[in-house]
Amino acid sequence: MLVSPALEKVLSLALPSPHIALSPRWQGIEQIQLKIKRDDTIHPIISGNKWRKLALPMQQLTHEHSPMRGIISFGGGYSNHLHALGYCCHQLQVPFIPIVRGNYTQRETPMLKDLLEWNINPLYVTKIDYQKRHDQHFLDGLRKQYPHYVVIPEGGSQEQALYGMAAMMTELKSACDYIVAPVASGGTLAGIIAAAKPHQTIIGIAVLKGQGYLEELVENLLPNRGSNHPKWCILHDYHHGGYAKSSPPLIDFCQSFIEETNIAVEPVYSGKLFFALQDLISQRYFHQGAKVTAIHTGGLQSARQ
Ligand SMILES: *Cc1c(COP(=O)(O)O)cnc(C)c1O
Repeated sequence: MLVSPALEKVLSLALPSPHIALSPRWQGIEQIQLKIKRDDTIHPIISGNKWRKLALPMQQLTHEHSPMRGIISFGGGYSNHLHALGYCCHQLQVPFIPIVRGNYTQRETPMLKDLLEWNINPLYVTKIDYQKRHDQHFLDGLRKQYPHYVVIPEGGSQEQALYGMAAMMTELKSACDYIVAPVASGGTLAGIIAAAKPHQTIIGIAVLKGQGYLEELVENLLPNRGSNHPKWCILHDYHHGGYAKSSPPLIDFCQSFIEETNIAVEPVYSGKLFFALQDLISQRYFHQGAKVTAIHTGGLQSARQ
């Protein structure tokens, strides 16, 4: 069993999430069969893919024989990852130290206000210091200072993330030729690729400027480097200027998508995903009759003002 049902119950997670047909009035939509995997519905706070990536680490940490007592992780002031992880830690009474890029004292974001509400104190660091988050020497120092704390990388993207993503993949009961998901720190896409079937094609939509860099992040997370993974690629034409950057067409698209489908999207991740899909479908990117599944990875809290 991948994830303990007990943990899912304590956290009130609605799993498995729905995998349902989606038929917005887009040009060319009749050429394909579009479905959406509603990981955004797993929980109002523990956002879809962030839960998937945290499932195994949380299970390991809360195991009664675990020597570990707390968690340290990293993110920005609007981070879905810190938000999801903060809530999990609050619910499970696990001490948590979020290391946050930039100083938000006196101007907390809604995300940081939630953390404070849950009695979690963010550790604000400068942008320069934040760059050390992957540095081995720095991480060794942290582990020495906090010996019983697990250090989880930014976005939760690490090897353990693949387990929870594999659980998501086993929930896809009907056939998919293409699986499409947004990409930022790479764990979500790597998990999908690692668990995909050989005939499937996996497409990542880059939400930030990272041609080459994002492919490398994903490659590094894939098990058995160099082995035969299914076909995958990352498309770099849909970031709208970079991470958390937006454009008037993207904002318009998000509004009309929400009105038409009643499915919430935000411009940082899911908006870019569906914007890209609409464009790809209109260009006949997918073969006639293709079964295409979009993964709605959640993350709606980051759009709060
Ligand atoms: C973090 C996040 C992503 C990106 O996933 P990665 O595994 O970091 O590539 C996509 N969608 C949402 C809603 C997220 O919060």
